Formats: sequence, structure tokens, C-alpha cells
Amino acid sequence: MSTEAARKRHRLLLVDDQPGNVQLLAEVLAEGFELHGATSGPRALELAARERIDLVLLDVMMPGMDGFEVCRRLKADERTRGIPVIFVTSLGEVQDETAGFEAGGVDYITKPISPPVVRARVRTHIALKEARDRLEELALVDGLTGVANRRRFEECLESEWRRAQRNRHWLSLALLDIDHFKGFNDRYGHAQGDECLRAVAQALATVCRRPSDLFARYGGEEFALVLPETAAEGAQAALLLGIGRVAELAIAHDSSSCDAKVSVSLGAVSLIPAEGDDPKACLERVDRLLYDAKRDGRRHGLHQDLVTGIRVRIPASLPAGKEEPERS
Ligand code: GH3
Ligand code: MG
Ligand code: MG
Repeated sequence: MSTEAARKRHRLLLVDDQPGNVQLLAEVLAEGFELHGATSGPRALELAARERIDLVLLDVMMPGMDGFEVCRRLKADERTRGIPVIFVTSLGEVQDETAGFEAGGVDYITKPISPPVVRARVRTHIALKEARDRLEELALVDGLTGVANRRRFEECLESEWRRAQRNRHWLSLALLDIDHFKGFNDRYGHAQGDECLRAVAQALATVCRRPSDLFARYGGEEFALVLPETAAEGAQAALLLGIGRVAELAIAHDSSSCDAKVSVSLGAVSLIPAEGDDPKACLERVDRLLYDAKRDGRRHGLHQDLVTGIRVRIPASLPAGKEEPERS
């Protein structure tokens, strides 16, 4: 466990219709946890969705919505699906316990409770959840550069595409590719090539300013950018910044025919996806723009506004005296 994880206070949600039982659990778990309490199913669901809860201790018999139903609803909601649920109940029959596991619970504790057993089980399930979360995170990160990987990019593009379609919002997409990178590896060696990829990725990642922006390694020396709720002008400003940041790295590349330093080319579009539009077809358009930028000398980008059709060239450096535009 990292020291940060060890220091983190986990959030527990204690649910029981009897306030005295919530209080008892709170005393047992007072040390090392941040505690939230609820005395009804609906309130428990509300808190679980809102408070970034790490684990729920859940009574079964409650008036209105019982604990099994609360658990089923937690498991049906994408926001709360990953939260482990431990039942704490006086129902001690095998069929009750089985019903608890069928509802999606990870463990079952019968009342009267034993404080050390409750603490041990809570710790075990929190440790398991952390390991699961870490694996999930690793599965979405590129090992070399530390930025999001292609899988994460594809998931993000799918969901942002649907969100933009639903809300009739702008969405901007870009593919960026290092120029003559094969030559870089040949000239400086593969280890230097890896170092260069890391530096370029870190520089380009700084264009992400909003929590929903995503920068990812698309593959090899190619990167992708998703900028939700961003129209043409904002995307051009972000891309100009990105391409400029790579130029500022000033990594020598003396076998490049387009610059003495490492540079990138990019293709990008901004659009409001309509019903029936497909993100794959859109990525192909982006790829064609990248291809055109490569063919036309590299070391620059081509952005197209798919609503007006207007194409704009994004230079690697601004003419002297010109200010960097702000992304609106
Ligand atoms: P262009 O300007 O047309 O993009 O030319 P290029 O040489 O960059 O493109 P090409 O697709 O021919 O070559 C890409 C190179 O990127 C080849 C490959 O060895 C290198 N590459 C891909 N992934 C990695 C990596 O993880 N590490 C290193 N060091 N090199 C990589
Ligand atoms: Mg390349
Ligand atoms: Mg390439």
C-alpha cells in the first residue's frame, strides 16, 4: 500500500433504521474512518451516490425499503456499483445469508456484533476494493508515458460523443503524431526515443485544463485529445498551445527534415455530433487531416470546423509579438 493510501481516511456508510445501532457501529469503527450514517434505504442510496463512500454496512430489516433492495439498487447504479456492501443483521438463517450474497453483498455479519470481527472484515474488504480500483486504473494508463491509454481514450470518446449528441454540444477531437520518429530512434537509440515520448506526452497533456478533457497515447508515437464542450476556436487555442509546448521542449532531432528539433503534426475537428453520426468515421476524418498535415511539410496542424467546413492551419510557433489565444 502506498503511504498516501495508508494515510487516507476511508469513508464508511452505516445504515440501520435504529439510530442506536448506527451509534454502536460508529463507536466500533470510530478510529481511522470517516463515518456517515443513514436510518433509511432511500437516504442510504442518496449518500452512497454523493459522498464517495468506500464501504457500506447495511441492516436488512428496515421499514419501506429493506437492506436487500438497497443493495440491489446500489449494484444497479453505475456510480455506486463498486462499493462493497457488508450486511449487519439479526437474520441468521442460511437462506437469509444466501439472499444477501445474491443481492450483491460481499459479506454477512450477524448481530449481536463482535467489535474486533467487524473491524477486521471492514479492513479486509476495503483492502480488496483498493486493489481492485488500482488494477482498474492500471488497465487504463499507458505504462511508458503515464498518460491515459488507448482503451481509456476509446471509452471516453464513446461516452463524450453520446453526451454531446444528447445535449447538442460541441466536441473537439485531435490526433497528434511525432514527426520522423523512426529517424529519431535510428539516430539517438530506442531508450532516448522512449525518453522523448515521455517528454512529449507530458508537454501535450498540459493542454487539458478541464476535468472532462482527455489526453491519451493512441499508439506508438501517436497521441489523441478529446475536448468536450469545446468549439473550433477553443480547440485551435488548445492545439496551438500543445504544439508550442512541444517546440519549447527543444529536443534535438538532427535527422528530421522539417525541423532541427522534435516536432509534431496533428489533425483535428470540432463538431456537434448529430443523431446517427459515428465516432469512428469522425476519427477517420481526423486521421486524413493528420495525413494532409504530414504531406504538406509536417510540423503543423490542420483543424477543420465540421459545421462551417472551415479549415485552419495551426503553426508550431506563433509569429513574433503575437499573443497566445485563450481557450474560451
Ligand atoms: P512521420 O513523420 O510520417 O510520422 O514519420 P515517423 O517516422 O514518425 O512514422 P513511422 O510510423 O514510420 O514510425 C514511427 C516510429 O515510432 C517507428 C517506431 O519504432 C517508433 N515507436 C513506436 N512506439 C515506440 C516506443 O514505444 N518507443 C520508441 N522508442 N519508439 C517507438
Ligand atoms: Mg510519426
Ligand atoms: Mg505514426
